[in-house]
Amino acid sequence: MTKENFYDILKKIPKAELHLHVEGMVSHDTVLFLYNRTCPEKKYTKKDIEELFKFRDFSDFISAFISIQQMFTIDDFSLLLRDMEKYFLRNGIVYSEVFIAPTSFIRAGMDFSKIMDIMVAGVREIKENHGIEIKYLIDVSRGFGLENALNNLNLTIELNKKYPEIIGIGLGGDENKGPATEFVQAFEKAKSARLKLVAHAGEVVGAESIEDAVQLLHVSRIGHGISSIFSEKVQKLLSEKNVALECCPTSNVFTKCYVKKIEEHPIKPLYKNGVPITLNSDDPTFFNVELLDEFYNLYKYLDFSLEDIKELICNSFEYSFLTPEQKKEYLDKVAAQWGVLFS
Ligand SMILES: [Zn+2]
Repeated sequence: MTKENFYDILKKIPKAELHLHVEGMVSHDTVLFLYNRTCPEKKYTKKDIEELFKFRDFSDFISAFISIQQMFTIDDFSLLLRDMEKYFLRNGIVYSEVFIAPTSFIRAGMDFSKIMDIMVAGVREIKENHGIEIKYLIDVSRGFGLENALNNLNLTIELNKKYPEIIGIGLGGDENKGPATEFVQAFEKAKSARLKLVAHAGEVVGAESIEDAVQLLHVSRIGHGISSIFSEKVQKLLSEKNVALECCPTSNVFTKCYVKKIEEHPIKPLYKNGVPITLNSDDPTFFNVELLDEFYNLYKYLDFSLEDIKELICNSFEYSFLTPEQKKEYLDKVAAQWGVLFS
């Protein structure tokens, strides 16, 4: 199949994306606008913004991510919502659970509840206009300690009562700066509040980090989890507990920890070994990759057949936090559309 055909067909299959950060969908135009508003004397150009998105390593990426967050004002979230809407439409995504991280916004003096009023109103409008459903997972960052995580959790508990779109928490940020053991109290409290739980783990730290997130934090999915390739025990744990990995291959190539190029990514052996896998883009603007590109990468460089790709698309709904009835509805649509396009 040609590249053009592949994109054309894959775009028309309904898909879900489960590991995506709202700030990661910000467009270059929005970033350019933010930079020029913050430092008008520097007169940034599009080329400067392209340079900004060239990272040397993981901490370089985290710094760029935080610096963009810090330029946001409350009015800019409507720009972000438009960027998100375009991203979902470009990729044929009909359902998503996206991360939003409160800490930098709160530290910049913003009221996070007000931000979420705007973000929830925005996704309701997107649903009304395009039928795309978006839910939020609030980040309780590893990098700022337990107290900060508990603050973010308490905000989430309050927001979850107000908005059904806010469904749970995710442990994000730099794994080296905050092991799972530090956040047990926050995740136990979240579990009692019936929130959905996920964690980034095994992205830049070994497989023990994944085991801790599953056993100590009781998460339903693991963000990245690629270091599980080094541990049969952890792969078995993921299969037995039916905890899916949210794989984001290009993101891992950019952060250069376990893989230096896409061909080295362990997603295929993990998939063949029976670890539940979903495919995601993480931060499309930062890594210059969108969900359709990631599917094409698997097809072209990682020996995934079209049937394997169909299974990953089904997994994106299967391992979401939708109800069994909602999952069935989406899966029926995938099967019907697949049948039409490949008949
Ligand atoms: Zn992520």
